[in-house]
Amino acid sequence: MKFYLPTMVFQEKDAVRNHGEQMAHYGKKALIVTGRSSSKKNGALQDVIDSLEKFNTSYVVFDKVLENPGVGNIMEAAGLGRREGTDFVIGVGGGSPLDAAKAIALMIQNRDSTEEVLYQARDLRHLPVVAVPTTCGTGSEVTPYAVLTRDDLQTKQSISHTIFPALALVDGKYLEKAPLSVLVNTAVDALAHMLESYFHANATDYSRMLSQYAMEVWGVAADVLFGTEASEEDYARLMFASSLAGMAISQTGTSLPHGLSYYLTYHKGIPHGKAVGVFLAGYLDILPEEFEPQVIMALRTLGFGSIGQFAGLMKELLGSAELTGEEIEAMADGMAGNERKLAAVPFDVDRGQILKMVKSACAQP
Ligand code: NAP
Ligand code: FE
Repeated sequence: MKFYLPTMVFQEKDAVRNHGEQMAHYGKKALIVTGRSSSKKNGALQDVIDSLEKFNTSYVVFDKVLENPGVGNIMEAAGLGRREGTDFVIGVGGGSPLDAAKAIALMIQNRDSTEEVLYQARDLRHLPVVAVPTTCGTGSEVTPYAVLTRDDLQTKQSISHTIFPALALVDGKYLEKAPLSVLVNTAVDALAHMLESYFHANATDYSRMLSQYAMEVWGVAADVLFGTEASEEDYARLMFASSLAGMAISQTGTSLPHGLSYYLTYHKGIPHGKAVGVFLAGYLDILPEEFEPQVIMALRTLGFGSIGQFAGLMKELLGSAELTGEEIEAMADGMAGNERKLAAVPFDVDRGQILKMVKSACAQP
């Protein structure tokens, strides 16, 4: 078994304020990358700025990271970072700013390179990255992936470099003012990471341990997604489950639901978590019979009874995807020819099973 996770993680209330010195230690001038507004409202950006100022570290803020950022967005931020002589990057926000921070750190370090290296070269050097997550979904603070929108291919794709953040400062308090839709969409992304990693061709006892404990922690807080009022502990649990699930996929990668989701996000504008979540029950359903005891264990750990009940609750939470018959066939064709994703599935999967999964995500399959 192999286990590699080179990120220093502090997971606690006030993590950013408590570990400002650690954060400032990565360089002399930080490029802080964040989305347009949420990190100003939930206090994460101010926590980072206060901590840098306390330890006499300069910074410049790029607050224009888009949802599902594209290469142009990355190059705009990298241009600022290059001009300002920044020597480390701090991503603050959901998966979009965190993934962007990784790609930007690569493009600042390789200052004479153009955007092509994001997808062509492999494992070039990059500036150190600090990650401060404010959603409970991607686990990007502990994964080496950076998923960007590729208009040239009309899809989303992880860059070809693996970039683990050097430091992750993780605090559930940033979720406290998030709308329920953001909690639901991102917690379902984390749920997908647990399940896709658990039922993955690359799963090991280490990664399964992380997935399984993530399910347990997620299950305790899951009522929040269905409208129960959340406590401080619930927010901390959702955040912790997300990081655990991120650690699991950092070892295995994701599988068919993530592979299929990119079509829905790119062509239908469906947020990442929902785009993934609509395929989850269908994925469990096509697992061969020998996986049944593990499927039952996973669902019970999460607090669900059967695949049928799980499918119903996911539909209640997320709704369905609206796809034409042609789109359904095209998605099945695309995935049936995607060798990398097929290799992630721990059994021989055929086009018919993929088609069944896609249909199960639609309102009228
Ligand atoms: P996101 O795209 O980062 O953010 C979605 C929305 O939520 C934005 O409008 C954002 O506002 C807002 N938001 C963020 N934090 C908030 C908070 N605490 N309270 C209220 N609103 C908040 O969403 P995400 O689901 O976290 O990330 C999705 C991206 O991550 C996708 O590109 C996906 O492909 C990628 N991903 C990466 C990995 C990985 O391993 N690296 C894994 C799964 C997914 P602002 O724009 O104003 O900030
Ligand atoms: Fe995801």
